[in-house]
Amino acid sequence: MSELSNLRILLVEDDPDDAFAFRRYAAASEAYRMEVDHVSTPEQAHNRLGGGQYDLAFLDLRLGEAVTGLDILNDIKATGTHLPIILLTGTGNEEAAVQAMKRGATDYLIKESFNCEVLERSVRHALEQYRSAMERRRAQEELKETNRSLQEALEELRRTQDQLIYQERQRALVQLASGIAHDFNNALSSILGFTDLLLQKPEMLDDRQRVTRYLELMRTAASDAAAVVRRMRQFYRPCQENEAFSSLSPNALVQEAISLTEPRWKEDAAGQGIQIKVETHLENVPFVAGNEAELHAMLTNLIFNSVEAMPEGGTMTLRTRSEEGEVLLEVSDTGVGMSEEVRKHCLDPFFTSKSADGTGLGLSVVQGIVRRHNGTIEIESEQGRGTTVRIRLPSKEAEPQAGAPAQPEAWQRTLSVLVVEDQHGPRELLREYLKTDGHKVETAADGAEGLRKFRAGWFDLVITDRAMPEFSGDQLAAIIKNEVPKKPVILLTGFGDMMEAAGEEPAAVDLVLSKPVTLDRLREAMRTVLASGQ
Ligand code: ADP
Ligand code: MG
Repeated sequence: MSELSNLRILLVEDDPDDAFAFRRYAAASEAYRMEVDHVSTPEQAHNRLGGGQYDLAFLDLRLGEAVTGLDILNDIKATGTHLPIILLTGTGNEEAAVQAMKRGATDYLIKESFNCEVLERSVRHALEQYRSAMERRRAQEELKETNRSLQEALEELRRTQDQLIYQERQRALVQLASGIAHDFNNALSSILGFTDLLLQKPEMLDDRQRVTRYLELMRTAASDAAAVVRRMRQFYRPCQENEAFSSLSPNALVQEAISLTEPRWKEDAAGQGIQIKVETHLENVPFVAGNEAELHAMLTNLIFNSVEAMPEGGTMTLRTRSEEGEVLLEVSDTGVGMSEEVRKHCLDPFFTSKSADGTGLGLSVVQGIVRRHNGTIEIESEQGRGTTVRIRLPSKEAEPQAGAPAQPEAWQRTLSVLVVEDQHGPRELLREYLKTDGHKVETAADGAEGLRKFRAGWFDLVITDRAMPEFSGDQLAAIIKNEVPKKPVILLTGFGDMMEAAGEEPAAVDLVLSKPVTLDRLREAMRTVLASGQ
């Protein structure tokens, strides 16, 4: 208590004798050096309390007529101060003193039994109370402070977590977009490769068989690319379980992948003066359930990696083998192989050892595809010797080929079809498709023309593009259905529509067919709408 042994005390007392006695006892104290400021009116008390730094205040309970020490006590307490206040009262006023205690006074002293010892005891008690109140307050403040910083830490943690989740999402999106671009590019490179071959060596065009084979490969590559774009859609709309999984022959997939990549490992390699030999060991294996385009993408990625790993040439071997309930697909090469470090990271997205040439996405795309097919991937590699990638996919008992369905008569006869499409290329393609099957075709280049022709003629079927300036396919369909409710209408939608991800089926059409439209899908669509219209 040494720091408080010098005390500044305010005494509010209107009786000069009592004030004198108080000063005397205070001066006599050996425990404290008390400096007493004495005032006798409430106004003076207010003024002093406003400016002065006191350690204690003593208030006489009775101050003149109107104002009492209790009033001053109330005022002081109302300011929120923690100044200890002790009431002074005469005998018979205990009731008022109890009141004072209730209102926050620290103590009260009876004037008649007042002396130096009582004063000291009371001061000590008040100061102790004051000190423990201060300590409580400090502890409370500290607790509040701790709470506040905990709260801040929690907020900070939440913000970081949100940020992390956001970054993860962004990363997934970038990966997805890059993966799609990557696969799309691979498909394009096949198409470009074959067209280049044919254009650079026009004599090849005389070899009908070869040209047909190239065209077939180009078609496969293009429809793989279309499937890649369809995959984008799954990102906008939740994909149905096992969407588009069909029974596929692993051996056929391997053969197709080899053919699709042929320009790269055969012509490119020959152009660079190296030779890449391709061997296949394809055993009799069961079917797998899968997405054809994805499995093509998986195999072409592995083949490209092998080709890139053999800059001096070498042998690439593709194997299929049946293993308990699984089909093993293996792509191995006699290339440069991988160090342990590279092998550990080669599946990571964006990991590449090919500096500018690599995207580092091939194997991460492969891994994604393998996962979606409930398969496993295993990579064995030795630097300077070569690499083997083993993929195992669950096998599927081949479903009995559900022989071609008996085709309803309706679509086999010659039909009269109105095609409404604003783009020249697709419009002509549809016309050719339909004419190939012996149908009669009328075309229109926009919705208004389409409607005019529809009203002027008679058609079994209307095929209309959706996105056309001014007069959309949906509007045209709605008017047609209003006039002739049973008229079959097929609506064509492009990539753009798919991206809208609205997912709503326009009410006025019988079927929505997404572009690009192949002859088979067009036939299938026509069969469907005509059969249901009968
Ligand atoms: P990219 O081919 O664009 O580099 P990938 O994901 O396809 O990306 O491959 C990642 C890395 O894995 C390659 O950069 C290469 O270091 C290594 N790698 C993949 N396949 C082979 C292989 N067959 N032989 C040697 N290294 C390979
Ligand atoms: Mg690669």
